[in-house]
Amino acid sequence: MSVSIQIKDVVKRFGDLTVIPDLSIDVQDGEFFTLLGPSGCGKTTLLRMIAGFNSIEGGTISFNGQVINDMDPGKRNIGMVFQNYAIFPNMSVRKNVEFGLRYKKEKPSKEEAAKLTDEYLKLVHVDQYADRMPDRLSGGQQQRVALARALVIHPQVLLMDEPLSNLDAKLRVEMRTVIREIQRKVGITTIYVTHDQEEAMVISDRIAVMKDGVINHCGKSKSIYQRPANLFVASFIGKTNILGAQLVVDDGACWIKTKDGYRCRIDSVRDEEVADRPITISVRPEEFRIHRAEDTDEGMLGTVHSSVFLGLNTNYFVDLDSGETVQITLESEVNEIIPDGTKVRLTLNTSKVNVFDPTTFLSLMQGVENSVETPQTDADREV
Ligand code: ATP
Repeated sequence: MSVSIQIKDVVKRFGDLTVIPDLSIDVQDGEFFTLLGPSGCGKTTLLRMIAGFNSIEGGTISFNGQVINDMDPGKRNIGMVFQNYAIFPNMSVRKNVEFGLRYKKEKPSKEEAAKLTDEYLKLVHVDQYADRMPDRLSGGQQQRVALARALVIHPQVLLMDEPLSNLDAKLRVEMRTVIREIQRKVGITTIYVTHDQEEAMVISDRIAVMKDGVINHCGKSKSIYQRPANLFVASFIGKTNILGAQLVVDDGACWIKTKDGYRCRIDSVRDEEVADRPITISVRPEEFRIHRAEDTDEGMLGTVHSSVFLGLNTNYFVDLDSGETVQITLESEVNEIIPDGTKVRLTLNTSKVNVFDPTTFLSLMQGVENSVETPQTDADREV
């Protein structure tokens, strides 16, 4: 049986250092919830608080509404998987998986333990290596063993701390699907820690983007990518271009006016934010359109600085006449790549552009919940 998890106004301090000032999250029963953020933002610290390995300096952590702040880690019934596998090198695969069962409160009989072990070895597809020693397994296979060992005890929560970061790129991609499928099958409430945004997007029901111990945006990957709550989230999730601009109200409509005077209409700014004002816009590389300058008068004027052919796509780096530089991703054409030095005009797919307040860096877009609890600084833009 898995549980819902309530984290309310939680504070973590190490001596004088406050790592988590005041954090609240609700994780639903059976949800795959990911903590995503740059190194040092407090992901592992929070996971260890849930596991009971770190003290809690304020607030409460509850399972199904029952506060567990003071509960012994061993009584929390949690399965854990770490990046370094942490499987015992001197035990066979089977013995590793069986190990956790020995310490269960209601210890299963020998036959039951063997049956359960077989079941979980099969679930993670390592049953054919049951009698091997771990040093004869690949990293991916060892991580499957670690997962089976965590799940065999039927924990009510599964905590995973960067479980794929020691694997090579190809295996990481394969294993994230394996983890997701197994989690769905077992239906266990899972909190997963990573700093890899693509991994988080593939694997999670919901993601909390953290910075300096603060949740900057919590939501589904689509909303985080398409309508980020602030400029830090926009820059941390995927690539984006940040440009200075003005919001202009004219003719009963709302327009973005870029530094060199190009205007494009935008309908999705929150009504209460629509006014003539300076703004910062975030434009994903795939949301620009490139036109030859001689073909049109519309768009931001610039010069192709360089390009990189990546197969499916080509990346262009364009120096705008405004002094800003942008990266653009276009699907590669059979025809030639636009040569360096070409004068171009860029237009925007405004339905995908995001508008932010240039001082608070908060989103001004409709439908965005601003879950930012502390003021942002200029440094936040340098991700
Ligand atoms: P990474 O992705 O690099 O693992 P993280 O987001 O998991 O980073 P944490 O390991 O939670 O970050 O660390 C958050 C902050 O708390 C860091 O500044 C770290 O130095 C500090 N910290 C963690 N554990 C301790 C400790 N036992 N004593 C003092 N400071 C600590």
